[in-house]
Amino acid sequence: MYEKMKGLLANTVPDFELRLKADLAARINQLKREKNAVILGHNYMEPALFHSIPDYIGDSLELSRKAAQTDKEIIVFCGVKFMAETAKILSPQKKVLLPSEKAGCSLAASISAADVRELKQKFPGVPVVTYINTYADVKAESDICCTSSNAVAVVESLDSESVIFIPDEYLARNVARETGRHIIFPTFDPTKVGDTELDYQMIGWPGRCEVHEKFTVEDISNVRKQFPDVVILAHPECSPEVVEAADFSGSTTAMIRYVERTKAPRYLLLTECAMGDNVAAANPEKEMLRLCSVRCPHMNQITLEDTLASLERDQYVIEIDEEIRKHALRSVERMLTIG
Ligand code: SF4
Repeated sequence: MYEKMKGLLANTVPDFELRLKADLAARINQLKREKNAVILGHNYMEPALFHSIPDYIGDSLELSRKAAQTDKEIIVFCGVKFMAETAKILSPQKKVLLPSEKAGCSLAASISAADVRELKQKFPGVPVVTYINTYADVKAESDICCTSSNAVAVVESLDSESVIFIPDEYLARNVARETGRHIIFPTFDPTKVGDTELDYQMIGWPGRCEVHEKFTVEDISNVRKQFPDVVILAHPECSPEVVEAADFSGSTTAMIRYVERTKAPRYLLLTECAMGDNVAAANPEKEMLRLCSVRCPHMNQITLEDTLASLERDQYVIEIDEEIRKHALRSVERMLTIG
């Protein structure tokens, strides 16, 4: 395990730490086999974990699909709670474990099921498209889910002049721009609902990812000044201005593919910093710049130590009320038919 990790991460992780982590990873992989478990690793996991223990790596959509297909008894989700919940929604008979109880998400926490019910009351009959970065009870109130890779396709698949798109404000604005829709945010000023903006086609919600909202157009111009040949990729949870100023925008998987297929020597990924390390390890001939002052405190809760403890003690088990799960499943499955 140490040799394998050294081959990939010698330039990213100090050697003494690599040895420690290789030992932990070997113990996790042994226990994983003994307990008939599968480990799913999100693209934002720290490099030593990302390149050692997951059976599958990817973004939330890809990992949701893997969760639905696995024949293992236990799913350990190295990601955040809403992702582990999605795995449980799709595989109710499996035991789904999240290695840290603290791995939440500012975006998922920005909206509740009661908020969605209120929106539906204000805009009766308007279908609700819910980003996968939400908790199960919010998905259960929705008509269909989406991810950053299929959000435009999901909105376009609905035979509806207007849609409620929750909870990410910037993703909603980016989708509105791409689909040519006029978006309103009634929740910014609830007293004005329906009065002044009657020609809306999308209704948004002011939730934001605390990582992606921090990138600015100024960051981009500063980096371009110093590295004129840099190719800049922005996640669609960044503001529309940042997405516009970048060279490419797409989900984490789309960004990885873009780097793999493009010949430029130098890149900057405007997303969680660990992903830059993971892409750099997989593409050693390409240089990755990182803006690592911006980290996701939730993703960073997941460590090799906690993952080992998770398998040893079967913690923390994801439970979802069966009625909520069934309703949420309908929204997730409807999304999966779209792609
Ligand atoms: S990166 Fe943003 S959306 Fe993803 S878990 Fe962290 S806070 Fe949530």
